[in-house]
Formats: sequence, structure tokens, C-alpha cells
Amino acid sequence: MKVTAVELHLLAMPLVRPFETSFGRQTARTVLLVRVRTDVGDGWGECVAMADPVYSSEYVAGAEAVLRDYLAPAVLHADEVTAEGFAGLVSFVIGHRMAKAALETALLDAELRTAERSFGDYFGAVRDEVDCGVSVGVAPSIPELLDEVAGYVDEGYRRIKLKIKPGWDIEPVREVRELLGPDALLQVDANTAYDAADIRHLRLLDAYELLLIEQPFVEEDIATHIQLAREIETPVCLDESILGVGVAVDAIERHATSIINIKAGRVGGYLEAVRIHDACAELGVPVWCGGMLETGVGRAANVALAALENFTLPGDTSASRRYFAEDLTEPFELVDGRLRVPTAPGSGVTVREELLRAWAVRAPVILTA
Ligand SMILES: [Mg+2]
Repeated sequence: MKVTAVELHLLAMPLVRPFETSFGRQTARTVLLVRVRTDVGDGWGECVAMADPVYSSEYVAGAEAVLRDYLAPAVLHADEVTAEGFAGLVSFVIGHRMAKAALETALLDAELRTAERSFGDYFGAVRDEVDCGVSVGVAPSIPELLDEVAGYVDEGYRRIKLKIKPGWDIEPVREVRELLGPDALLQVDANTAYDAADIRHLRLLDAYELLLIEQPFVEEDIATHIQLAREIETPVCLDESILGVGVAVDAIERHATSIINIKAGRVGGYLEAVRIHDACAELGVPVWCGGMLETGVGRAANVALAALENFTLPGDTSASRRYFAEDLTEPFELVDGRLRVPTAPGSGVTVREELLRAWAVRAPVILTA
């Protein structure tokens, strides 16, 4: 197809409650959306970068700049563009995976809408609904945490994930385990907040039958994850460290991780995410789908990805109202702890243009050849 325009839309969506991790506290989600206009139709992609470079080195203004100055011109000046060919077309740009993922997803959406194929069908989905977990931020107090968790259990979530950080780990985990009972699926995410000196402390988590501990150490530090995996019974799961299929296979073979959290934005797009899924399946390593506070646009694609065979653990693919009072697309609603995989062409969801305008931080940037 021929890309005729790339639009960059910047929105601020109010969160239903502030979300706190070891990185900090968010009260609104700044969302960068990409629309491609092509000779065969339009497509949408969501950039998962956060407003500030605190989760990853990528952030919204940086992603916007690299899209505007490098990635969009590359597709606008190409005679023929395909989603599969996109990575090669922009391989001259180092890194910036979240920005690349947004544009690749928009291209794939345009392509599949034209072909009348859904993301799920294209990725190789084997189920029509996916088990959902929920990620619970650091709370102001233990009673407030227990209240919040109890609310999610009532809503039907099939797995609880607690954000932990030094000073907020063993006690909240013990209290939540007691609340949930011994059989409930519970896991923790440290978002790189610990270091090697904390290994003995982290071993205390073994008492609580966790599904996994996610990314306790900085993303470059595979070695300390290997050391922890040797010393702890709880399975270690990498998130931030996994930037592509090569790192994933390397980390598995070195026994740094026995479960992988796949986030398409972090690895440069859904095509690479599927490759990581396939490699993990071959190595017998289960995967699950992470979340980055996506709107319906990103959530739709995540749910389709999570429908692949080796996504055997519930993902952070929560219902829209976990984060937003109103979603940018038709809302994703939990039924019996599951979300339905969209089946309509492309992402299967429609952007509500009136909300795009209502939540706009500024007029869209429209780039043409
Ligand atoms: Mg994580």
C-alpha cells in the first residue's frame, strides 16, 4: 500500500484512580496515537510510552519526535509499504521500539482492515476469549490495598499482581495472600526497584506461593536475575529486560527467567511479540501479556495477542474501566474474568473521534509526503 499521511494525536485521559509503581504516581494517561492514511484505507496504532522517561528511556515527546522526523518520513517516501516490511524500512533508527510499534501497528491495522482479517486471525489466536488479571499499584495503606484487591476479586479478575518496592513488599503480599486464600493466583512486580543486596530479603516471598516475581533488578542486569533465580523458589519473570527475541532466548538459556512478560510496545511491535511467543513455546517457557495502561486501541491488539497458545498465564489485559471511566473505543468488559477477542477486521475496534477531539492536548500533527 502507499501511505499518504501519518497523523500524530496527543490526548490526556483521566484515570479512574491514580496508578503508583516503584517509578512514581500517574493521575492521567498521556496517550500518543498514530493514524496512517493509505490508498487502501486508514489504520490506528497506540504508542505505549509514558509521559516521562521513568519506566523506559522512551517517553511521549521523544516518541513523537522520532515518529515525526524519522519513522513517518520513511514510510511516506516509500513507494510501497507493508507491516512486515516496516522493521527493515526503519532499521536505520536505533531503538525507539515503542514509537516503531505504534506505527507498525497502524500499518497492520490498515492492511488487515483491507484484507478483512482480524489481528487475532493474523497472529494465530487459538481462543476466542482470554483470562484476565489485574495489576494493583502501591496503595497508601494496607487496608486501602485490601479494599482495592477485594473489589477486583468481586469483579471476577482471575489473577492479582501487586506492585512492590523496598518498604512495600513482604507485608502487603502476606496480607493479600491471607485475603485471597491459598489457591488464588498471585504474583508481584518490582519494576527494577531492588539490587543484589536484596536477594535474601526477596527470598522471604517464597512463603506466599507466588506465580512469579517480575523484574526485580535493572533491565541491563541479567546476571543478578540469574543469581536470584538460583536462590529463590518463586519463578523469576523478566519484563523490562526483554527487548526482542534474541534477548528472550539468551535470558532463558542462561536461566535468568522461566516465564516471560511480553509487551508489544517494548519489543518494537506485534510481529516481534509473536516471534518471542513462538521462541518461548519452543523452549517450553510460558508467557503472558503485560499492559501499559492502554486505551481500547492498544487493548484490542493485546487481547488478540494474548489469545495465542503459549499465553498460558492471565495477562494484565484488564477491562477498560480498570483505568478509564470512558474508553476511546467501544469498552472492553469483563465477563467471568475474561475479555472477548475482537473478530472484526484489523484491531476490531473503532476510535471515537468525538473523544479524540475532547481529550486532545493540541491539534494533531499531520505529516504528508
Ligand atoms: Mg512489569
